[in-house]
Amino acid sequence: MSSDLVIVYHRQPYEEVEEGGKVVLRENKSPNGIVPTLKGFFGGVDHGAWIAWKLAEDTSNPEFEPVVEIEDDYGRYSVSRLPLSADQVREFYHVTSKEAFWPILHGFKERYNYDPVDWPNFREVNWRFAEAAAAEAAQGALVWVHDYNLWLVPGYLRRLRPDVKIAFFHHTPFPAADVFNMLPWRKEIVDSLLACDSVGFHIPRYAANFVQVARSLRDVEVTRREAVDQSLVFEGTALNERSVPTCLSVEGREVGVVVAPVGVDVAHIERRAREDATAERVREIRTELGEAKLVLSVGRTDYTKGGVEQLQSFERLLDRHPDLRGKVRLMHVSVSANRNMKAYEDIQNEIEQVAGRINGRFGTLGWQPIALISRAIPFAELVAYYRAADVAWITPLADGMNLVAKEFVASRVDGDGVLVLSEFAGAAVQMGSAVITNPFSNRAMDEAIRAALEMDEDERRTRMRDLRASVARQDIAAWGEAVGISRMTPAPDAPRTAA
Ligand code: UDP
Repeated sequence: MSSDLVIVYHRQPYEEVEEGGKVVLRENKSPNGIVPTLKGFFGGVDHGAWIAWKLAEDTSNPEFEPVVEIEDDYGRYSVSRLPLSADQVREFYHVTSKEAFWPILHGFKERYNYDPVDWPNFREVNWRFAEAAAAEAAQGALVWVHDYNLWLVPGYLRRLRPDVKIAFFHHTPFPAADVFNMLPWRKEIVDSLLACDSVGFHIPRYAANFVQVARSLRDVEVTRREAVDQSLVFEGTALNERSVPTCLSVEGREVGVVVAPVGVDVAHIERRAREDATAERVREIRTELGEAKLVLSVGRTDYTKGGVEQLQSFERLLDRHPDLRGKVRLMHVSVSANRNMKAYEDIQNEIEQVAGRINGRFGTLGWQPIALISRAIPFAELVAYYRAADVAWITPLADGMNLVAKEFVASRVDGDGVLVLSEFAGAAVQMGSAVITNPFSNRAMDEAIRAALEMDEDERRTRMRDLRASVARQDIAAWGEAVGISRMTPAPDAPRTAA
């Protein structure tokens, strides 16, 4: 059955688990990810489709059904699973996307690794996603493509299906032209993005950077520019923009530029934060801490997250303020994702080494300054730590948005707690009431954590009130509205023709 909305996202929209020797499809355990939000859009159309990849031993004769039909709380939709070999996945995802694109997107020129990239494989994988989307889309449907590892899909799809509307959303930052243009495939990527009807970003800066890149490579005219909404203006901070291009003209076609900062499901997180089980867990954590304050840092093990720089700041804090020894603990959650990648292994080793040094230098039998956690904490448990913490210390060197900062604030139903946030996280433009810091400056980092630990209750509560208002206003539903997808898809039961 053809679909009015086709979502192209590399991951499948459910977890596959084995039960009694059979594979069953289960709702993703983590309710906070983007997947449930995306599936929510299927409720707005007659029939939807999702395109993802799935590992296959023999890609020409996969051991699974390539297309399955699902009917659940989100509506009726099919899921196309593109069979990819382990080599294809490694080349397209772990090498091209993570070693070449990821550092460029986050502005780490020196980490960019061109040599191992197999560009024909990247094209081939993207082509297959485009073909699968073309096969599922109804006449005039909307195809919504997600993230940089599928950058070439819009261009291919436009060739295969000139009738469909195409939207693209970046879940990462988008860099300025002098960084992006290091990619030798820059024209091919930009041409593909310019084949879209709309290209989306979290914040105005990333949108502005994209337009600058496009104009550096092609004849692109900005036909509309708008003042940035006040909720996204934070004067004087690193990622601030005052106005943003919202419409481009490219060879007579219009391309919309959309700014939609992703939010969190505030109602869900608040419910969790108020549960008795959470309150009980918070009490246990606080009892364990005794008089010590808890500083919480949560992120993936990635050089973009600035884990090492943060630990070094903590070391300086303990060095310079002996009064804090025994009075503060840092819980540093650094979840290692890509164990098989050298860059991530190196950073993991460095984090372990610095944390070990700090514990060795300052720790006593009764007090360990750092609890280093390298495994993922289930979300329900994480909410308890958010609630128990005195300070959330979130200082990435670059980050598209940073949902941890928003989840922390949403969890603080008690109205207390301090957020220290890097001005290089996209979230910073919406969270001006946090203690904003610059992770590239030792002095700024050290002053921010000290100020957070010393802040009096009145100031903490005033800042948290503002933060909670902003996170609630710009929650996940607001993101759904801002990306404009429902405006681009036909309403359910609207007359339509099959492709
Ligand atoms: N997360 C989690 N358990 C952990 C660490 C992180 O469930 O131990 C979740 C966290 O709740 C958040 C997501 O992982 O929803 C991280 O998103 P964020 O935008 O902060 O960073 P990303 O990893 O996407 O760069």
